Amino acid sequence: MPLAREAVELLVQAARAWYFEGNQHGLRDREWMALRFLGRANRFSRTPSALAGFIGATRATASQIVKTLEGKSFLVRKPSHEDKRSVVLHVTAQGEKCLNQHDPINHVLNAVTALGTDECVRLRDSLREILNHLDAAHQRLDASVCRDCMFLAERGPGTGKGRTTAEFMCRLYRAPVSLEETELLCTSFERTRDRPKIEEHLDRARVASQG
Ligand code: SF4
Repeated sequence: MPLAREAVELLVQAARAWYFEGNQHGLRDREWMALRFLGRANRFSRTPSALAGFIGATRATASQIVKTLEGKSFLVRKPSHEDKRSVVLHVTAQGEKCLNQHDPINHVLNAVTALGTDECVRLRDSLREILNHLDAAHQRLDASVCRDCMFLAERGPGTGKGRTTAEFMCRLYRAPVSLEETELLCTSFERTRDRPKIEEHLDRARVASQG
């Protein structure tokens, strides 16, 4: 138990990097959280309501944050391809640049990267396990990567070379999902234990991108 407490206390100290008073590089911590989420979310989750759910804010607060980010040219709204009455939020090149250069979590990201791949995988899996326990207790899950979702199905054989051929289908939204999109965050995610064969497609794509 003292060991567990020590680990949790260290986690709380690490969280100071992303929860802070005032602003850093012109954005408050919630605005950073929103920009970071929108930079990593798939097209189904880049909506004002999904954003509000993810950052734990009301629609009005989320809408204010979107306006702030738009005002700084970090974000634009575009009509949704799936539903013309809805809008999808897009992080601009300027927003991406700001995330790459100034996101307050970048220091933590660099420190975790320095641990090396194996340690990184162990850390990720441990944190995921912890969050699974918390989610089970609170009946919630904010977002996770599409590739582990129970609604993801293979659409057709991934024939041919490279990363462009493997295609998947989201059975919840009844829409195609590309291989690249399976690595993005989704707020409608539901965990599955029976993974689709996506891991082999991802491995193939990683090898193709390295070669
Ligand atoms: S398969 Fe799951 S995670 Fe992926 S888009 Fe559909 S609901 Fe979201």
